[in-house]
Amino acid sequence: MSKLDRRNSMGKCVECPIHDICLGNGHCFFSKRRDTIPSLPSQTPPRPQRKPRGQERICRDSSLLRPLARLGSVPPQRKLPPQDNGGSRLLPSGLPRKCSVFHLFVACLLLGFFSLLWLQLSCSGDVARAARGQGQETPGPSRACPPEMPPEHWEEDASWGPHRLAVLVPFRERFEELLVFVPHMHRFLSRKKIQHHIYVLNQVDHFRFNRAALINVGFLESSNSTDYIAMHDVDLLPLNEELDYGFPEAGPFHVASPELHPLYHYKTYVGGILLLSKQHYQLCNGMSNRFWGWGREDDEFYRRIKGAGLQLFRPSGITTGYKTFHHLHDPAWRKRDQKRIAAQKQEQFKVDREGGLNTVKYRVDSRTALSVGGAPCTVLNIMLDCDKTATPWCTFG
Ligand code: UDP
Ligand code: MN
Repeated sequence: MSKLDRRNSMGKCVECPIHDICLGNGHCFFSKRRDTIPSLPSQTPPRPQRKPRGQERICRDSSLLRPLARLGSVPPQRKLPPQDNGGSRLLPSGLPRKCSVFHLFVACLLLGFFSLLWLQLSCSGDVARAARGQGQETPGPSRACPPEMPPEHWEEDASWGPHRLAVLVPFRERFEELLVFVPHMHRFLSRKKIQHHIYVLNQVDHFRFNRAALINVGFLESSNSTDYIAMHDVDLLPLNEELDYGFPEAGPFHVASPELHPLYHYKTYVGGILLLSKQHYQLCNGMSNRFWGWGREDDEFYRRIKGAGLQLFRPSGITTGYKTFHHLHDPAWRKRDQKRIAAQKQEQFKVDREGGLNTVKYRVDSRTALSVGGAPCTVLNIMLDCDKTATPWCTFG
């Protein structure tokens, strides 16, 4: 259509198409660019004027408002002709009218809501846990959380219930692991409101390491104020606070179950972390003292549990799989003593029907109350005794 077609008989513009402007000479000025405001032909050539970009981004293309438009809370934005964005239609603040105070208010509300949600999650530890990946503990409290009380102030309280746990930790030369373990466990159990005391059973004789005999000693030396035990490896840190460490009324409770332990997955495994009431431990006559060196003492204890007619329980509803624990064990640095000397090869698979809690021979050299990173524990320096005729493999000969 030509420009002249738009004049009436008097040579005046009747109506210019939208985007076109009726000029003083009666012509409609046909603008190629829809956002161009023309000047009179005699003036300097028209210079395209851009829409204010920031405003356009907030009100039209805002990724914040687009989902709202889809949900229907903000009507989908129609692409408006440029004159709608003209100065006369701007709010006093310079924002287009479509970008109303209401939209900004909704955007602020959403921002506030998501900030609060993030704060809440990071304080409850969920985000921190997710960020930990393999389960390495993040030291110190989260930046946004209110500061946590120092461990020495976490006091047990009668409202935590009638039971008290003795955490029995067989130990020799795992100093770095101990520095992490004691504060971690004290914090973990206090958060769960489990009354507890940690006993570090430090084997100081010159025999090979004997995990089971140390647990027997720990049982006998633990305070009468405790009524159940956790035999607990020093290098296995529980990460999931859903794990139950409560009193195992019904029977032994294997916390580090094969579905959750990062390394051991066989059905009869009961090592790592096992809870028992003191009464049930006595019923089994504790653990066998014949296992010097690494391994098999826990497999023998499984058979004692069965022999005593006890039912074994394990965690349910834990969804963190093999990331439920952090196994702080570098096998190159902490070599396992897997030597089998002479008769030990056959003996290691037998059930010890006589020995156990009633036959363990030892002396407690010292008993030291210690605070590790503000968390209390007791270190027992234990001298085990070995009957070299019964178990000659307690030394390397
Ligand atoms: N342990 C120890 N010093 C040793 C050997 C074992 O303190 O020289 C203790 C420690 O509590 C450790 C547990 O016994 O977590 C089990 O031993 P290890 O970690 O070697 O066995 P794993 O379960 O990794 O096969
Ligand atoms: Mn280990």
